[in-house]
Order: sequence, then C-alpha cells, then structure tokens
Amino acid sequence: MQFDLAIIGAGPGGYVAAIKASQLGAKVLLVERGDVGGICLNRGCIPTKAMIASSHALAAVRAAGEYGIALPAGAAAIDMRKVQERKQAIVEKLRGGIAQLLKGRGIELLKGSASLAGNGRLNVDGAAYEAKNILIATGSTWIKLPGLEIDGRSIVTTDEALDWSEVPGRLLIVGGGVIGCEFACMMRSFGSEVAIVEAMPSILPPIEGAVSRLLARGMKAAGIELFTGTTVERADASGTGVRVALSNGKELTADKVLVAVGRRPLTAGLNLESCAIALTERGAIKVDAKFETSAKGVYAIGDVIGQPMLAHAASAEGIAAVEGMFGKGGEYDAHCVPNPIFTTPEIGCVGLTSEELKQQGREFLTGRFPYAACGKALCDGETDGQAIVHTDMEGRILGVHIIGQDATLLIPEAALAMRKGLTVKDLEATIHAHPTLSEIVSEAAADVFGMAIHKVGREQKR
Ligand code: NAD
Repeated sequence: MQFDLAIIGAGPGGYVAAIKASQLGAKVLLVERGDVGGICLNRGCIPTKAMIASSHALAAVRAAGEYGIALPAGAAAIDMRKVQERKQAIVEKLRGGIAQLLKGRGIELLKGSASLAGNGRLNVDGAAYEAKNILIATGSTWIKLPGLEIDGRSIVTTDEALDWSEVPGRLLIVGGGVIGCEFACMMRSFGSEVAIVEAMPSILPPIEGAVSRLLARGMKAAGIELFTGTTVERADASGTGVRVALSNGKELTADKVLVAVGRRPLTAGLNLESCAIALTERGAIKVDAKFETSAKGVYAIGDVIGQPMLAHAASAEGIAAVEGMFGKGGEYDAHCVPNPIFTTPEIGCVGLTSEELKQQGREFLTGRFPYAACGKALCDGETDGQAIVHTDMEGRILGVHIIGQDATLLIPEAALAMRKGLTVKDLEATIHAHPTLSEIVSEAAADVFGMAIHKVGREQKR
C-alpha cells in the first residue's frame, strides 16, 4: 500500500504531524519503536511536570501556616511511591489519549524500527513500505561524558531518575541547563541535598543574564550548592555512593549523580545514506525553510534537526512541514518560540536577550517590573521575580524574559505580540485583568518608556 506520508517517530513532532496530515486528507503511516508520545510524554516533559506538581504541593503544605492554616508539626512528608504512581497514571492516560486520537483519525500506527530504503521507500523491521513523502521525527538522545559512564544505578540520566522511589540523600547534578536546574529545584524540595556542577560561568547559559542570576540566587537560598565554571574530572562509583573530583580541586560524595549535559540528534540506524541526506557539523539533519532535507520528498523536524529541542517547537515544525508538503501554507516563525522552564521560581522567555542584542550591536530599550509590586503576587505569597521587556527604539518587542510565579503562563502573550510585530503600546493598551499576574507583563512593557503606573522613576538601562 502506498501512503501519502510516512512518519518515523511518534513524539510530539511526529504524532502531531500525523494528525495534521490526516486533517488535510492524507493517508498516513506512523512508525514508532517505543511508546507514542516520545521522550516528552514518556521520559521528559510530562513525567517531570507531574513530579514537580508534587513538589509544589509539598511546598504549599509546608507554607500553610503563612496562609493561616494550622497543621500538626511534621504533617508534610513525601511518599515517593505515591508520587511515582500518580506520575505513571498521568503518562498512561495521555498515552491512551494519543492512541485514541490516532485511531480516530485513521492513522496507521506501526510498532517497529524504521529506516530509509531510498527515496519514497521505508523498511520497517524487514517489511517494505512506500510513501510519497517521508518525515523523520526521531528526536534526540543523551550526550555522554567520558569518564562519567552511566551505570543506571548511581550515575544516571533522567531516564532512571524519573523512576526513583526514594529521595536520594545527596544528589550531584552535572550540567546546570534546563534539566539540571528543574531537577535540582524539585529534588531539593523533596529533601535531597543538591549540588550542581556547570561548565559555563552561569546556570542556564543561553538565557537572559539577569534571569539566570535571579534563579541562582533563589536556588542558593533554597540550599542548592552551585559550582559554575567547573567540570567533573573523575568519578568513582565502585563503593557505596559516588566520589567525584571537580576541576576546582574539591571532592564531593553523592548517593546519586545525575548527568544532564544536553542531548544530540538521534539519526543512528536510519540509513540516511540511502537518500544522501546531509547533516550539519553537529550531526543534525540539515533542512530548508520548509523542513525538507537534501533529499526531495524527505523532511525532518524536531530534536533531530537540532536546537531549540523543545516539544512545542517540534509540534509547530511538524505542522508547518505537513502544511507545506500538501500545499496549505506552512508558516513557522523560529524567532517566537517560547521557552518555559519549570524551576522554582518558573521562567518564561521568548525572543532575544540583552546579551544577544548587545552582541548584534543593536540599539534597544528595556522595561522591568517586579513581582513584589503586583497585588496578586502578594496575595499568592509569590513576590520573587520580575519581567524584563526589550524593544527596538520604536517600542517594537524584541524579547521578553520573566522569572517568577506562573512565568510559563505569562509568556504566550509576549510570543503573540512578537509574532505580530506589536509594540509595548499595544501591550499597554490591551486591558489586563486585575488582580492578576498578567499585569506584570503590561507594566514591564509600559516601563520601556518610563510609563509603568505602579513604579516610580524611569529605567532604561540597556
Ligand atoms: P541543556 O543544553 O539545557 O544544558 C546542558 C548544560 O550542561 C549546559 O548548561 C552546559 O553548559 C552544561 N555542560 C555541558 N558539558 C558539561 C560538563 N562537562 N560539565 C558540566 N556541565 C556541562 O541540556 P539539558 O538540560 O540536558 O536538556 C536537554 C534538552 O531538553 C535541552 O535541549 C532542553 O531545551 C530540553 N528540555 C526542555 C525543558 C523545558 O523546556 N522545560 C525541560 C527539560 C529539557
């Protein structure tokens, strides 16, 4: 049977592309060797966020006294087995939901490992399939660190850490990126003693410097040790726990070491050579603006084409690729991909940072507004954080960076404004409901020209 589209990988890139293609009338084959939902649903975004929700519930119970609720001392205790059960139930429910959606759309879901067999041809565990278009959405895999071999027991990736049924006493995290920082905040809240070793001079290296500094301050205040500009030189996991020698001369002992130093595109076993598909220097599949590879009719999306390696970027790329292939547009704006980070406090970013703007030699203006000046933030007891808005000299939004409660929920408005080329005046003129945290965004926008209502003075530092 010939398909209009065969997709390799049913993560948030592949399964969303499959649904979009079927909505456009295409006959779709979706091949997946693991579980539908990919890393995001099964070993990434969803399980971590389910566990982070437990850490927030624990924090809320611990802080109950501040809100006038009396609880007996020691009332809050974490039961990791229950946390795991809850997480697993959520993952399974969502997995079942995707399977239903695919079935309801008439998409043929095939369990197996697919590889290319020349243009328009696919091999799935020895069986041949033909498709007018092929979409590669195989995602990414862990970057390994020499000398820090993953043994799955003491030295692990989140593949193992997401299944821990006990809270490790001492946890060392190698890599202060998104995964490292999210896990550090969560495990600290569960009671671990946490240290992070990050090679770069700051945590979450590519994000707005002020946001990274505020997060570092919050993490240190929570008792997380940060070793920036530091790497692991040696690790010995032969005894109980792991002894780790750092490049700064310190020696640490940890019960568990979590390695989170990034991910790389997963192309192994795809037989890309059969279609002469070109790769970038970093091993990602090269694509054009329509996500077509160097082979006609073969497309690629998501982590396998490299950064930003975010689930929602993969979904948006999948939709754009499929729309383009079936002549229905295919709009994708890489400048407006929101970046949500579920640390404590949360971070939401979109667009350029002040560091990038300076590097590009661009003139820009900046507005800031603190959570502490927002009524709703005070009511919620969440006053740490601020919103930062960068614009061009006419006030057109170039980047918005928020750290604080629900920052991940506040950022889509900024993404929409950027995508539509709006100015801070448009954000200001849009009535923001009171009392809500969304007022922080409009006030930070107004502050670009010194016009925030609930802030004295004018701040236009670049
Ligand atoms: P990352 O690239 O965000 O961070 C890796 C960190 O490790 C970097 O800060 C890097 O400087 C550091 N590092 C590299 N080598 C090191 C070494 N030898 N010693 C110490 N530090 C070292 O990668 P990640 O945190 O592993 O996450 C993987 C991917 O998953 C990312 O692309 C991320 O965007 C995505 N992700 C996104 C979210 C989210 O959006 N909320 C959550 C989790 C993961």
